[in-house]
Amino acid sequence: MKPSTIAIDGPAASGKSTIGHHLAQSLDYLYLDTGLLYRAVTWAALHRGIPIEDEAQISRLAQTLDIRVSNPTEDDGRQCTVYVERKDVTWDLRAPEVDHAVSPVSAYPVVRAALTQKMRAIAAEGDVVMVGRDIGTVVLPDADLKLYVVASAEERAHRRLLDNQEQGKEITYAEVLSIIKKRDRIDSNRATAPLRPADDAIIFDNTELSIEAMLQRVLHLVHRPIPRS
Ligand code: C5P
Repeated sequence: MKPSTIAIDGPAASGKSTIGHHLAQSLDYLYLDTGLLYRAVTWAALHRGIPIEDEAQISRLAQTLDIRVSNPTEDDGRQCTVYVERKDVTWDLRAPEVDHAVSPVSAYPVVRAALTQKMRAIAAEGDVVMVGRDIGTVVLPDADLKLYVVASAEERAHRRLLDNQEQGKEITYAEVLSIIKKRDRIDSNRATAPLRPADDAIIFDNTELSIEAMLQRVLHLVHRPIPRS
């Protein structure tokens, strides 16, 4: 039997979204990149001029904001389309301002509770690949398969720099590396749902491995029978 709920966690730019997306396509499962939900709240706060330090206002925003995620509506390299209050904000969510502000916003417990509820509702139907930071530990602790994807910060910064260059964004390697390290620090040290592998997660380090090679290993794992305990 194939696993029905698959949780993939890992730090920024570790390749988890690429792997999760391919896996979902290969299994014909729903794909949800949960970072997009945290980015949507962050983008809406910046857009409305709410200071990132204003936990009360941002918490209220997360509880009431209309965020919808669908399969891609444009063939422009996106893996999902994200609407905030019915506006397509998919690419806005990748802006460096959002990159900067998303980890502090994600550390607010009320924001996490509101978005975790949304994620569980989406996963309730099964046949889902969900990607994030706390999926295997908090959101779906009973997931059938848990993967934890890592790579060195330097390798991840190289990959993220290439993404930025492809999108025509002007940013240096040093800046990308510093944002990645800062986000790792905040995500790993926050009190609520810190980034860490679940005890039963399978860990993949792809610092020395191409994403394609890693995907082959993951596909092999998923299509192998689950041992009965
Ligand atoms: O994966 P991505 O880089 O888009 O995630 C953006 C941010 O959202 C992360 O740095 C993290 O702070 C937060 N996040 C989280 N829990 C998740 C997914 C993302 O805290 N499940």
